[in-house]
Amino acid sequence: MPRLEAIGFDADDTLWHHERYFEQTTARYAELMAPYADSKALIDHLHATEKRNVKRYGFGVKGFMLSMVETAIEITSGNLPANVIKDVLAAGGDMLVHPVEPFPGVEATLSALTADYTLILITRGDLFDQERKLEASGLSKYFDAIEIVSDKTPPVYRRIFSRHGEGASRAMMIGNSMRADVVPAIEAGAWGVHVPSDHVWALDLHDDPADTSRFRRFGKLPEILPLIAEIG
Ligand SMILES: [Mg+2]
Repeated sequence: MPRLEAIGFDADDTLWHHERYFEQTTARYAELMAPYADSKALIDHLHATEKRNVKRYGFGVKGFMLSMVETAIEITSGNLPANVIKDVLAAGGDMLVHPVEPFPGVEATLSALTADYTLILITRGDLFDQERKLEASGLSKYFDAIEIVSDKTPPVYRRIFSRHGEGASRAMMIGNSMRADVVPAIEAGAWGVHVPSDHVWALDLHDDPADTSRFRRFGKLPEILPLIAEIG
């Protein structure tokens, strides 16, 4: 078995809370829109808009804010006071300043690995927002490289693990998203480790890989340490 050399970590909902802020903002959005639209219809419409817009705006808070505004206008056929749009934008803007608190055990895990492995933060989202969160988390000192990418695909993982190490075969990717973190990393030739989060975004779901030789799932991030020690 080739010795492990580089370890990639997803950021949102792997190192710190993220999706719960989207859920809180979505609830606030439904509240603001309650006089104009049925909640269920609004949220369904929002999810469809988000799915469409991800291909256009990429992942992140700003695209989500535009999706909320577009949905509000579409579902009311444009019959919506501008001050509601202003409140929706303010609710979205709050997501760009929320506090960033790493999950229990995250800092100790990174600290245990940083001397022996090349640690790479690999995340999607808005560049400015992701940099802010990393800075606010206090975790940037443990990483050898930060990669903020527009999508997480097998070629992207191959490129990152070649740039910062000796290729995907000696690398591992750890994250809460089967679709973005685990499955494409395994397809690239790396290990893929799933650490599920409490809040799951619909677009992150994916079946377990057919070949499980390089696939593992753990309940909490610190539980990866014995596996890493075993691989070497
Ligand atoms: Mg994530």
